[in-house]
Amino acid sequence: MGAAAAHVLVFPMPMQGHINVMLHLAATLAAAAGVHVTILHTDHNLRRLRNAAAATTADSPRLRFLSVPDGLPDDHPRSASDILEIVDSLGTAGRAAYRALLGSLLVGSAGGGGFPPVTSVVGDALLTFAIDVAEELGVPALAFRTASASSLLAYLSVPRLFELGELPFPPGGDLDEPVRGVPGMEGFLRRRDLPSTFRRQGDDHDVHPKLQILLDLTTGSCKARAVILNTAVSLEGPVLAHIAPRVRDVFAIGPLHAISPAPAASLWREDDGCMAWLDGQADRSVVYVSLGSLTVISLEQFTEFLSGLVAAGYPFLWVLRPDIIVASQSTTNLQEAVTAAAGDSKARVVGWAPQRDVLRHRAVGCFLTHAGWNSTLEAAVEGVPTVCWPFFVDQQINSRFVGAVWRTGLDMKDVCDAAVVERMVTEAMESGEIREKAQALAEKVRQDVGDGGSSATELKRLVGFLRELAT
Ligand code: UDP
Repeated sequence: MGAAAAHVLVFPMPMQGHINVMLHLAATLAAAAGVHVTILHTDHNLRRLRNAAAATTADSPRLRFLSVPDGLPDDHPRSASDILEIVDSLGTAGRAAYRALLGSLLVGSAGGGGFPPVTSVVGDALLTFAIDVAEELGVPALAFRTASASSLLAYLSVPRLFELGELPFPPGGDLDEPVRGVPGMEGFLRRRDLPSTFRRQGDDHDVHPKLQILLDLTTGSCKARAVILNTAVSLEGPVLAHIAPRVRDVFAIGPLHAISPAPAASLWREDDGCMAWLDGQADRSVVYVSLGSLTVISLEQFTEFLSGLVAAGYPFLWVLRPDIIVASQSTTNLQEAVTAAAGDSKARVVGWAPQRDVLRHRAVGCFLTHAGWNSTLEAAVEGVPTVCWPFFVDQQINSRFVGAVWRTGLDMKDVCDAAVVERMVTEAMESGEIREKAQALAEKVRQDVGDGGSSATELKRLVGFLRELAT
């Protein structure tokens, strides 16, 4: 391979799940000889990461952090429900700042640290402008899709689903009906397992505007030089085989957190006191509950979860972000409600947990999750059984893989009911079969990321690809 200095600009979507995984990618690339990496955050998130004492300086002299404005006023809450506004503003005001910055990074050591000129961009697949602007400036760009491969394949299959009459769903139709047209998934995919945006319809049965935005992003990102996916052959091998002919190149290099242990990149300050609490619990006795960084629930749903958890009777550790309850209902003190229902010793509430450490802890017996792709991967790597309550986007299809393909957990999709929470949590905690399947899958995934495994091999190929782009 030539000795040209590769410098990759990595630009994640300003959301927790994206920031984490792209930091892992960046750290992995910067560990390869001669590769420099700049991570581009928004100004707001870089400040927030610093406030949360997260990683904003790197151990590696070849990894650095820069930022651009997202175009929103400083006092904008940027809460979970503002995603579309954030993306929109970033794509307009942020786009200009990004173009100017990238232009300056092409001519020498701008940005400090003696870095060589940027030779390629890895843009978040949801920030297609980052990919387009790079190509306009003559910089080859790759797209990183942080969601599951199966959700990508579902979006790529939309034209076929319309052709077959599977979409739009008939008004009031049965969501348990099987769906044809997503290759390789015909045996187990139901309407309710397709990404949540598929349930929306336009006024005249056209594609709903929100689904259209996601379809445009999918088409745009799949035109990139290559698509990078944080997945592994043992999780989504058949899906990857169906994606490969539809993109210019695809690299399945995950789960990245199992390949490269990067420092924490949490936007919230982690409450590591919960680790000491876990230390005091018996092996596999605790239910860990977290619905990720974006899920918003109603007070009624909170009450159903709480009653179900208390009825199941296991100690539980519950992540309740300050913005987890629908804004108009958020006056209740959740911590007090949990303590009153479960008792002090049985329950621990935190605003944000060091999730990977929690899932690795011997005391954790199962994970009640929203089935975000990162959380799904983190549970898969640790062999922890999951109970899934998917909220949106790819989570509906991820939880179907958990419940019906890998059989490493249970899917309580669309039903938030105390009795169901109680039953499923109890089954996930007690079932030897689910635990065995979860552990067998973890073993396979560990082989994928280990020396000579498919993900490790693809990662090497990606580094070669990026070096080649620098020559
Ligand atoms: N996470 C964490 N602490 C928490 C809750 C979540 O560190 O208390 C991390 C979790 O480990 C994962 C990410 O936040 O890496 C959430 O990503 P995911 O794709 O699961 O869900 P999203 O937040 O994008 O819906």
